[in-house]
Amino acid sequence: MIYINDLTFEEMKEYIKKIGEKPFRAEQLFRFFNSEKKLNLNESSNLPKSLRDLDVSKIKIHKIFNSELDETKKFLFSLDDGNLIEGVLMKYKYGYAQCISTQVGCRMNCSFCASTKKGLVRNLRPSEMLGQIYQVEKAFDINVSNVILMGSGEPFDNFDNLLKFLEIIHDEKGHNMSYKNITISTCGISPKIYELADYNKKITLALSLHNPFNEERKKIMPIAKKYDINEVIKACKYYEEKTGTRVTFEYTLIDGVNNKDAHANELSKLLKGMRSHLNIIPLNPIEEYQEKRPDRKKVEDFKNKMNKLGLNATIRRELGSDISASCGQLKRSSEVEH
Ligand code: SAH
Repeated sequence: MIYINDLTFEEMKEYIKKIGEKPFRAEQLFRFFNSEKKLNLNESSNLPKSLRDLDVSKIKIHKIFNSELDETKKFLFSLDDGNLIEGVLMKYKYGYAQCISTQVGCRMNCSFCASTKKGLVRNLRPSEMLGQIYQVEKAFDINVSNVILMGSGEPFDNFDNLLKFLEIIHDEKGHNMSYKNITISTCGISPKIYELADYNKKITLALSLHNPFNEERKKIMPIAKKYDINEVIKACKYYEEKTGTRVTFEYTLIDGVNNKDAHANELSKLLKGMRSHLNIIPLNPIEEYQEKRPDRKKVEDFKNKMNKLGLNATIRRELGSDISASCGQLKRSSEVEH
């Protein structure tokens, strides 16, 4: 089944030709979805009847959570099949940044992550990734300038749809978003890091590192059994060289597990020679994972240690901490409510 709003402009042109419609309809439809951000074809005054019956994939804002501490908003979106996904809108000096999901659930099984506890339900289609942004922009009459693919799911486990999403969001007939304003976060599927490097856009790659020792990393991130740390870092170096961008390394800090001196020292060795950025994220504890979040001082200590070792390290600002939580936690707390 084809959902017409999943198509890139090139695919739309081909499709329109195939069904025997006039070529200019392709651009009209593409703009309808990606510039006007509409979903109901009957809302268009200038589309012929034959084109109003095409299948469109829909997404709606299901629930909004407003932070009382800052202007962060968290969302639950509902999909055609009733599945829920989540996202976050953050306000910065430069504008709005939105974190979006790429899958319903996830099959990567990182031990500290809530999104993966029920496995992968399904991949999101391009229109469902785009729709998270469009629906928020429409609801608040804003322009989202930066997008972070760091919600639920593993973007590189949904690679074809990811590439289509990138092509559509960048298209000047649509949102016209610069690649530089897009960040993709991965748990480290090396072959896809090379593929994205060869796609060769100025997209920021963020690698979820979380531990510089392979044996320890395997315990919290099963993907490390398949692609070991050296292999992944090599892929990141290739990404940096090929695209000329600085790779971000995410480091979820877990008390007593990955915040020892040995970790700091090994990290600095591992990232030596790269123009990297280390983003320290204090653990958001979840029920299924017994470990603790280090206190503020320990987080600061780890950061200072990294800086002393010559690494550019920052602590992730915790926006909307009152409305809870990273990855998957929002969706799950709402499932419990219902
Ligand atoms: N699958 C991708 C993107 C989604 S996870 C990836 O692994 O990068 C986004 C980030 O949030 C990852 O760095 C992930 O490890 C981190 N994360 C997940 N659960 C967390 C938790 N409970 N506390 C802190 N960080 C968490």
